[in-house]
Amino acid sequence: MTYLIDLNCPQCEQKYSPSIQQTYCTDCQSPILARYNLASARGELDRHEIGSRPSGMWRWFELLPVWDKDQVSSLGEGDTPLIQLKRVAQNKSFDQIWVKDESLNPTASFKARGLSAAVSKANELGINKLVIPTAGNAGSALAAYAARARLKSAAVMPIDTPSVIIEECRLFGAETILVDGLISDCARIVGEMITSGDWYSVSTFREPYRLEGKKTMGYELAEEFNWQLPDNIIYPTGGGTGLVGMWKAFKELNELGWLEDQNLPRMISVQSKGCAPVVEAFNSGADKCEFWEAAETIAWGIRVPLSLADKLILVTLRESGGTAIAVSDNEIIAAQAELASQEGLFSSPEGAATLAAFYQLRASGFITPDESTVLFMTASGVKYI
Ligand SMILES: *Cc1c(COP(=O)(O)O)cnc(C)c1O
Ligand SMILES: [Zn+2]
Repeated sequence: MTYLIDLNCPQCEQKYSPSIQQTYCTDCQSPILARYNLASARGELDRHEIGSRPSGMWRWFELLPVWDKDQVSSLGEGDTPLIQLKRVAQNKSFDQIWVKDESLNPTASFKARGLSAAVSKANELGINKLVIPTAGNAGSALAAYAARARLKSAAVMPIDTPSVIIEECRLFGAETILVDGLISDCARIVGEMITSGDWYSVSTFREPYRLEGKKTMGYELAEEFNWQLPDNIIYPTGGGTGLVGMWKAFKELNELGWLEDQNLPRMISVQSKGCAPVVEAFNSGADKCEFWEAAETIAWGIRVPLSLADKLILVTLRESGGTAIAVSDNEIIAAQAELASQEGLFSSPEGAATLAAFYQLRASGFITPDESTVLFMTASGVKYI
């Protein structure tokens, strides 16, 4: 049984029913967030029992938004390895740096978690035509989970999306639409498909449940660090689902009374210098982001000129005492080569950006040698070939 109560607008507190199709807050346009009866869960759920269940993110079923287990579309997502860096750490005399290797998810990226949750909930609500504007990884994840649930899917993506991903979407049976433009242009076309057809968009934060899938990364980290959590989490930030999701997860765990240490991690966003709206807003003290014109970076997953959750991202960074940092494509390439040759990890550019950010933050003194840091390797480099 899930402890899901409703969906709640963090900005104006408006409540929305999870029994029918929802998008975002129709009053104030903010994303809406799933709320659970954690007071009841606290007395009834046992974190050790959850730890003994078969692996995967649906171990956390009671804290996820689906009522009926039979509606879940799963391909074994979640419970990815947490790998301590050995040679990168030794070379620079840092010894507490880990990589959460999300490339081992189905369709080789962490987008699997969010889309498993979103497709499962859509399936439960009887929604059967799902469309997504995507830089790539979310499209193939949607296509896979929709295929599994026997729902229709469409992926709208930039024409320069890696061919591996385009082929993947086609093979999974998604309607695959290529756009000469950025993800923001894709979003416009999806808008037309929603109004002219009967498509439902599972675009980042336009759909409330992808966040719930992504938050399980936070649950897993808590468990892996014996409920004490690392000092720093560096996350390549596009739409910000994982960043906001993990922060939500840590607060939920706190309410459940499951954390041994109330010091939550500093949440750190890394973006590319060619598309850094969050970094700019963070540094200028703004509470929202400006649209980033002419975004350009090899890290497609974070080539997002403006997130719908910009305010939530900035609140997360500030509340957690974190920061936002931009790295160049050259730094990303160097970090990618280092992770591969020194550690045997073939990271996507977005994942490698976290190591580049780590070096900058270590050099500036923001991160000190005694601290523990987790880098999010959000996808496999294989998909970008
Ligand atoms: C989508 C994506 C990101 C950004 O994730 P958000 O949760 O939208 O910020 C980072 N890395 C990769 C590989 C991605 O596909
Ligand atoms: Zn609202």
